[in-house]
Amino acid sequence: MAKSSTMYVCQKCEQTFAKWQGRCDNCGAWNTLVEQVVEKKSKGLESAKNIKAGDFLVKLPDVDALEGHKKRLSTGIGEFDRVLGGSWDSDNDKSNGSGIVPGAVVLIGGEPGIGKSTLLTQLVINLSASDEIGKILYVCGEESPSQIGLRINRIIQKEHKKFENKKDKIVFVTATDVDTVCQIIKTERPSLLIVDSIQTLTTEELSGAAGSAGQIRETADRLTDTVKPLHIPTFLVGHVTKEGEIAGPKILEHIVDAVLELSGDRTGDLRILRAVKNRFGATDEVGVFKINEVGLQEVSNPSQIFLEYAEQGVPGSSTVCIMEGTRPLLVEVQALVLQSQLAMPRRVGRGVELSRIQVLSAILEKHAKLPLGFSDVFLSVAGGITVKEPAVDLGLAVAIASSLKNKILPKKTIFVGEVGLLGEIRNVSYIERRIKEAKRLGYTNVISRKTHARVKDVLKELELL
Ligand SMILES: [Zn+2]
Repeated sequence: MAKSSTMYVCQKCEQTFAKWQGRCDNCGAWNTLVEQVVEKKSKGLESAKNIKAGDFLVKLPDVDALEGHKKRLSTGIGEFDRVLGGSWDSDNDKSNGSGIVPGAVVLIGGEPGIGKSTLLTQLVINLSASDEIGKILYVCGEESPSQIGLRINRIIQKEHKKFENKKDKIVFVTATDVDTVCQIIKTERPSLLIVDSIQTLTTEELSGAAGSAGQIRETADRLTDTVKPLHIPTFLVGHVTKEGEIAGPKILEHIVDAVLELSGDRTGDLRILRAVKNRFGATDEVGVFKINEVGLQEVSNPSQIFLEYAEQGVPGSSTVCIMEGTRPLLVEVQALVLQSQLAMPRRVGRGVELSRIQVLSAILEKHAKLPLGFSDVFLSVAGGITVKEPAVDLGLAVAIASSLKNKILPKKTIFVGEVGLLGEIRNVSYIERRIKEAKRLGYTNVISRKTHARVKDVLKELELL
């Protein structure tokens, strides 16, 4: 293929340059230039004359028909469907028509080795068993077909019968040239496309190496243009770069419909799938998995798993109830408070924002007279969860006091409440749902705004003052 002309575009100020340079002359930013193919088609006024407005208008009654066409496809993995979005029956905690939207392009990001390929292999296996699904194309740039084949066989070992005569639906594509891949898609018309990973695809038209920002952007763009009109649901794997961004600085976010992130403590066995962006659903739902030798197992009762990690009966440990989307989750928070050796005592958090630790420490100092001004305060959340909502304030405050006084908190107790700057406990949303979850797991004592008005009252009752 003839090399078409390319240019370099600053991702910050959109200034274009003929050659790559480390620093943008226009805005002064470093490493923001990305190679792009110069548009060949002119979208000038000439072509505009031929446009018929009717081509771009959709009447309301026709929308329903379009939606019907977009019937979601279940992945066969409840936790995966939940994150992909759609209709979720939160009373019974099960899918009510959620899953993959036809033609949607979903990016799955995460650190190398976290389990992205495993999850997608399981998806491929599940869907291949469905009669609704035809051919599945698996573009394997990262691994050889035999490696993926081995993994598939390992996962389906137990349910061999179910997949007899279905395996030939799964077809591997070994090409990494995106234009070749697009051509294959057009002729093969698969029911599902997996690209593992987007960083291995290239187009000859750009000079950058595979995985460079320009290549990632262009190859994802071309794939999207190919699969969209054919309504082929597509999953792209994207490795997270050192900076913690999926496949370069936000390059793909605008191109794909959804960005899911698989994370977890690599040494531990818990994995959390969450949506960072989702054009077809909410972004606050979380899927929880446990990894083992045959793949990622769904955790349908995550609170129980998170509490397995809890070191109960140790000073500094308290249990809180957070909401992840529509699902209440019980998790343990831990505090470590000790006398500081520094002039400026330290405040350190893992899974908790630093500013929250600072505010809570100040509130406890002022309104409960706890001597935290000379203490280092460390807070962490068990199981690799990040807590953002203020409903955990009370649990964190109590954990801090428990560690400082070296006194164990009562068993089977959870703490739910926001703590205000005046030391008052505030109501939080979904309190009934949180209490229900706590009771379900045998937590008989729920401390919240309903039981106490001030954080000081709680500490007094627990003999932490
Ligand atoms: Zn610039």
